[in-house]
Amino acid sequence: MHAAIAEFVAILGPQNVLTDADHIAPYTKVMIAESEDLHRPSAVVYAREVSEIQQILKVCNKYKVPVWTISTGRNFGYGSAAPQSAGQVVLDLRHMNRILEVDPVLCTALVEPGVTYQQLKDYLEENDIPLWLSCPAPSAIAGPLGNTVDRGVGYTPYGEHFMMQCGMEVVLANGDVLRTGMGGVEGTSAWQVFKWGYGPYLDGIFTQSNYGIVTKMGMWLMPKPPVYKPFCIRYDNDEDIHDIVETLRPLRIANVIPNAMVFANVMWEAAALMPRSKYYDGTGVTPDSVLEEIKAKEGLGAWNVYAALYGTKEQVEVNWQIIAGAVKASGKGRLITEEEAGGTQPFDYRAKLMRGDMTLQEFGLYRWRGGGGSMWFAPVTAAKGSETVQQTRLAKEILGEYGLDYVAEYIVGMRDMHHVIDVLYDRSDPDEMARAHECFGKLLSEFGKRGYAVYRVNTAFMDQAADLFGPVKRKVDQTLKRALDPNGILAPGKSGIRI
Ligand code: ADP
Repeated sequence: MHAAIAEFVAILGPQNVLTDADHIAPYTKVMIAESEDLHRPSAVVYAREVSEIQQILKVCNKYKVPVWTISTGRNFGYGSAAPQSAGQVVLDLRHMNRILEVDPVLCTALVEPGVTYQQLKDYLEENDIPLWLSCPAPSAIAGPLGNTVDRGVGYTPYGEHFMMQCGMEVVLANGDVLRTGMGGVEGTSAWQVFKWGYGPYLDGIFTQSNYGIVTKMGMWLMPKPPVYKPFCIRYDNDEDIHDIVETLRPLRIANVIPNAMVFANVMWEAAALMPRSKYYDGTGVTPDSVLEEIKAKEGLGAWNVYAALYGTKEQVEVNWQIIAGAVKASGKGRLITEEEAGGTQPFDYRAKLMRGDMTLQEFGLYRWRGGGGSMWFAPVTAAKGSETVQQTRLAKEILGEYGLDYVAEYIVGMRDMHHVIDVLYDRSDPDEMARAHECFGKLLSEFGKRGYAVYRVNTAFMDQAADLFGPVKRKVDQTLKRALDPNGILAPGKSGIRI
């Protein structure tokens, strides 16, 4: 490691190689229920050019030094910026932040890893380009490349980010620079418009993996619609989740509702806005009576649906009538328009997210119980009412056993939903941290027994999550790893993959 560090310094200059504890501290800070010692990097290096990354990898291969790549490093609740295991060198690409191209005609962009959503949004505004982004909830400070390669989601019609990705540049462990899709064709004008290229489609293997370092990514952007109509539907009872799914799934599949809508439970809504202590000073699970009080006083539903319409006045009007008709026919749910919400929260920040605007409102979730602990448990759900009821019941039951709250939302994809539960706990209390850790393991195993697995998981549980997908999948992952990175220098442990 010493020799490798000296060579990093020679390549990057001493100001781009951090080794002292103070500088490394921000890369050690995690919200997951494990000791920071298990995730403490040995050094942090900044690269700005592809050629620097190639040289770094040469050194890593020579000394068998593992390197954990981050782009904007905001992967809160999934491991933050810290590596999967202690001792890895963090390669932080935040300074590699050029917006290489925005094509206002084809509505595409090509960005480097360090570009943030805020930066891209500012660029579009400054250049008067009427295109919208799709971003996750910590929008302003996270970035499209890191979010997309970890298969994150947003809330607009482009909310399934990897589906809207087109073309990558990847530095492989041996220093080769691969351009995926049409990118290898000399003189191509189609890198950012045709995803598949020729032969095996490779972009997927560079997501949630450790087979390469992505240095450029193409993405599709959404034209700003003439009319944008966000709305909310409030439902009073926990059991309504069944009918919500049954009423809205057909509208989503038929694209009447075009965006990745969200069903947020009362606790998620409340947590985004206020600390739990406003209503409850006790410990353990928030009692149902308190949730009833919050619903009544804050005007929240047991479930709160946020969706939006985009298009011309006529298109929006027609789809609005269809939705209003379906909600009425279901006999449940109160529709709330933007005008009726009148600029209040949480409608206002939801409306922002569904048009890809910047908001940090959901950082409020971390105040709900305080103590800095958060792990996202995010099983995939088929969009069926019966399955949703089962998952909700099971999650609540297991969290309840450990005295933890069910703070949840469903983010609706094309036919699936990401059932996202924020497991919030007090990291400063060792007992609670141990309980949260055990609880998370049990959530994974109990859901697994019923055929449910997560779409993404934090660095503490990557192996356990990988096991749910079966031994053959693990073997293929490893075979690819051995072929592409025989020294195992790239992010060992990511998604449970090692040589
Ligand atoms: P964000 O800040 O958008 O949440 P991060 O930069 O934290 O995204 O990246 C999320 C995860 O994606 C990282 O933990 C890492 O595993 C992976 N990742 C990030 N950037 C790259 C990259 N350039 N190449 C390969 N994998 C990456």
